[in-house]
Amino acid sequence: MDLSKFIRNIEHFPKDGVHFKDITPLLADSAAMADGLTQLMALVGDEKIDKVAAIESRGFFFGTLLAQNLNAGFVPIRKPGKLPYKTLKEPYQLEYGIDALEIHEDAILKGERVLLHDDVLATGGTMKAACKLIESLGGEIVQCNFLLELEFLNGIQKLKNRPVKSLLKY
Ligand code: AMP
Repeated sequence: MDLSKFIRNIEHFPKDGVHFKDITPLLADSAAMADGLTQLMALVGDEKIDKVAAIESRGFFFGTLLAQNLNAGFVPIRKPGKLPYKTLKEPYQLEYGIDALEIHEDAILKGERVLLHDDVLATGGTMKAACKLIESLGGEIVQCNFLLELEFLNGIQKLKNRPVKSLLKY
């Protein structure tokens, strides 16, 4: 199935100059969701995965489905102050200013094989910070995958030698 039909373009959201990729039409269609999951599973292939870690909040939709289908545990990576237990924090640069991501310090065991997932790869700063959290805990990043990638922003360059795959490229 061509999933691009289920991605809605919103110009100038959340601010001027941003072409926002809205995945809610995809979420609203059960057949498209099922097909999206099948396609994401195909990106993973027969790699063994211990944990799927996904980024708040739009990474959570397919992240939990992927974890179930891979017989893996699910790990939320969240914005600061949301996770209740002891956390590790990684700051990252935004266009203007700085943000950060957190993970529970016991979420990944040393040597666990981790699949990272998010909806959109833009400049790559968010996923890079998530990769650093996983690596700090001793996890091995098997793949970073996305529903879609904005290739012109070259986010892949920030992710260096980590394997990156996405279903749709713009
Ligand atoms: P970046 O750190 O620039 O790669 O941004 C990635 C994060 O911001 C992801 O969690 C996306 O959900 C969100 N994001 C960035 N740009 C867009 C966009 N054009 N449309 C939808 N989400 C975006």
